[in-house]
Amino acid sequence: MIHQLFSSIFRQPIFTFSFIVFLCIFGFFTFDSSLNYTTKKTHKSSSSIFHYHSTFISLSSNYTVSEYLRSLTLHPHLAGTQEGYQTTQYVKTHFESLGLDNKVSEYKVLLSYPEFLSLTAYFSNLGSKEIGFSEVGFDVVKPYHAYSPSGMAVGKAVFANYGREEDYHELEVLGVNVSGCVVIVRRGEGMSRGGVVRVAEARGAVAVLTYTEGVYVKGVERGTVMKGLGDPLSPGWASVVEGGERLGRNDKEVEDRFPKIPSMPISIETAGVILRSLEGPKLPEKWELALNNGNDVRIGPGPTVLNYTFQGEEKIATIYDVFAVIRGSEEPDRYILLGNHRDAWTFGAVDPNSGTAALLDVARRYAMLMRLGWSPRRTIILCSWDAEEFGMIGSTEWVELNIMNLGSKAVAYLNVDCAVQGSGLFASATPQLDDLLVEIMKKIEDPDAEAKTIFEQWFARNKGINIQRLSGVDSDFAPFLQHVGVPSVDMYYGKDFPVYHTAFDSYDWMITHGDPLFKRHAAVAGLWGLLALRLADDTILPFNYSSYAIQLQEYTNILSDMLDGHVSFTPITTSVKNLLAVAQEVEEEAQKLRMEETSTDMELRKRMLNDRLMLAERGFLDADGLLGNRWFKHLIYGPSNKCDSKLSFFPSIANAISESKENEVAIQHEIWRVARAIQRAVDALKGDFR
Ligand SMILES: [Zn+2]
Repeated sequence: MIHQLFSSIFRQPIFTFSFIVFLCIFGFFTFDSSLNYTTKKTHKSSSSIFHYHSTFISLSSNYTVSEYLRSLTLHPHLAGTQEGYQTTQYVKTHFESLGLDNKVSEYKVLLSYPEFLSLTAYFSNLGSKEIGFSEVGFDVVKPYHAYSPSGMAVGKAVFANYGREEDYHELEVLGVNVSGCVVIVRRGEGMSRGGVVRVAEARGAVAVLTYTEGVYVKGVERGTVMKGLGDPLSPGWASVVEGGERLGRNDKEVEDRFPKIPSMPISIETAGVILRSLEGPKLPEKWELALNNGNDVRIGPGPTVLNYTFQGEEKIATIYDVFAVIRGSEEPDRYILLGNHRDAWTFGAVDPNSGTAALLDVARRYAMLMRLGWSPRRTIILCSWDAEEFGMIGSTEWVELNIMNLGSKAVAYLNVDCAVQGSGLFASATPQLDDLLVEIMKKIEDPDAEAKTIFEQWFARNKGINIQRLSGVDSDFAPFLQHVGVPSVDMYYGKDFPVYHTAFDSYDWMITHGDPLFKRHAAVAGLWGLLALRLADDTILPFNYSSYAIQLQEYTNILSDMLDGHVSFTPITTSVKNLLAVAQEVEEEAQKLRMEETSTDMELRKRMLNDRLMLAERGFLDADGLLGNRWFKHLIYGPSNKCDSKLSFFPSIANAISESKENEVAIQHEIWRVARAIQRAVDALKGDFR
């Protein structure tokens, strides 16, 4: 009865905060013994599970999230620095204070910091001028590109739009050659920083300056230019603190991950000063710029000459991943992982600590559920990663270290990086999680519209269901999905925020612009935590592989239209048909098992079905990995070699096409590899010999 009363009080948001204060003052820990929960360590009825899940939702508190964010963002906390270590301690202490089992995992990895930077422009009419220092007066790391080589470059300035191959073709048509020039590009169109530098380097440029149109005029977007994920000195294995193998900095494999020409980010203000001083051909009309008088701009090269010097320091630094583990009472050897990175370029209020604050709040709510008698069926692991900004290093090292246990036991990985960047939910997932994601969205109140669910608002804004996929390598889901084949989710509020990787990404910005009342933070914590609860507590895993089959068929149709009958897609179509058929059989089997009462035999049958559901995603992995990018093993989702590839699926086929559309034998081979991968998922779902 007390239980009932609790939850009805919690359902009134106005009482939530005062009630939590009450719990704190009187010590909610003492409530544990006064409540009559006998469900712990026994099979829980679905009604008691449902009750815990709705209690989780009602424990929402925007106040606690705001406090976590304020504490995390007091100082800039770049990976490998003392302030970075302080956030490690903060997160660990938080888990400890909640009584959660916790653990810190350390790695020694190669990081990169700026020592000296200068940018001088020689204008034909104004003489020389120091430019490029737009974030003066902030106690943060200077705007730089991590892993840019040190060096000095002098050359005429030239503008190359987004720095894509097609942009250089356009320049060629206009008679512009960038060889020996300092290339200026704007960020966007899916081009990574490193990709932009590499393309310019191949065309003979001596340096690259990048700017970002979406950020504040004086803001400068920092970032990494390293290719690939994880510590560059331990590619494919973990960079353990002692005793592990480490490549030399000058090994070819290491060198290949970094550009050879220096680069740095500049503000849009600085870019404008340079661009308006250029002569030469007029800016192509389709390149419309977000600059004052942007369309009167000429693209150079010159006459303005830029002199750029970068002196960086590369060093082996210690990074720290922090974990809280809530052991499953019935299937402790099955893992549901929630992950967010903690390191930031500057204060990190959006990127990534809006997500960290949400993670800490999920931990708080779980700890309260535990006090009320809940324990998950499967093990829940909360992960706080380090050094994501340098190239997903903390998560990748941990994944490489634990590849056996993750490969055989990880059910799902749920990522949140920048939880709140603005308004409107964006969600990505591997397709078997689509239905669950939608179900969860229907359970949480929308932070920006009263009496509406997140789903209603999201559906209306997208004019339908719009779940993105995870081919990008822009956050910590990449090693889990693309290296180990763990079903994954990624979500956030808002997009393209104006303080991205700049000194302005602070608590102040968050309380003024991003989420003044922290309602969006609380909403993300709700979605994230509830998603994990369902995955941890449902007796049969809530995976729907029919969605996967339908998605794969859509991809196949797009590709076959694109390649216009020159290769055969029958192998993939056959595998997809098989996947759809087995997915439907499995769903019927799951329905039956859900209805039946628990018995020893039944528990075994459920476990066997769950294993098949969990392992099906691993079928998409291929030991040989992607063509030209072997570390990436997933043949459905992963990066393609060409940064501006239009395909966001089947990366190995995309690579074969971008190498040569005429090489039909190579493309057909990649089609066969994908078909076999899908068939492996079918075999995993069937769970028996053929
Ligand atoms: Zn981030």
